[in-house]
Amino acid sequence: MRKKIVAGNWKMNKNSSETADLLTQLTGTLPNTTAEVMVAPTFVNLALAVKQMAGSSVEVVAQNMHFAQSGAYTGEISSNMLQSIGIETVILGHSERRAYFGEDDALLAKKVDAAMDADMRVIFCFGEELQDRKAGDHFKVVENQLKNGLFHLETTQWKKIVLAYEPVWAIGTGETASPDQAQEMHAFIRKTIAEAYDQETAQVVTILYGGSVKPANANEIFSKPDVDGGLIGGAALNAEDFAAIVAAI
Ligand code: PEP
Repeated sequence: MRKKIVAGNWKMNKNSSETADLLTQLTGTLPNTTAEVMVAPTFVNLALAVKQMAGSSVEVVAQNMHFAQSGAYTGEISSNMLQSIGIETVILGHSERRAYFGEDDALLAKKVDAAMDADMRVIFCFGEELQDRKAGDHFKVVENQLKNGLFHLETTQWKKIVLAYEPVWAIGTGETASPDQAQEMHAFIRKTIAEAYDQETAQVVTILYGGSVKPANANEIFSKPDVDGGLIGGAALNAEDFAAIVAAI
């Protein structure tokens, strides 16, 4: 049985008091669910979020981290620092990190390794750009991102990996991949993992869909057999919308 997950990526939004307010609203709004629910506030608000959500079923996770443990990397945050405040899951490879901060597959593989060394869980994001899809290259692009970022891992390390397929053209654009497009790619991802590893690894890994998921479309997307939940951006900043998406899972 695969884990279902709904994770909210708050990106560079919400100062400290706004973070506390949104968490309070979420506590009052989120439905009971067997799915895992996660929120990813900005680095500076992680510690307060961990404290505020202690004892709740909502896990606070990080949006990024560096591959080194410490050292001369001005402005960066390590796995050790995250774990020291109670963070055990990190989002890596988000398309905004890839596009605006030059994070490529090789760097992401190092970050994944750092997370594995620290025994942290990774939500690994990947997905094609619009030009790739238009050119019919989307399966190849996704296969390469998986191969370069993750396929050096041992089979046993996959229990710490959650995948988030996020077509770049659907992130923050209001444009969603159709449920059938999401299903088609998720099935392809499982097939690719089965070929590189084995059927069990492919069947057990949780694969989230991300890209303009909203209360209005969550039900249909989540009803697809290979879609195990969502990574939610814009709609995660509104407690009622996020709660409605959690209810859809
Ligand atoms: C995201 O940033 O991961 C995302 C899916 O954003 P949005 O839901 O706003 O498209």
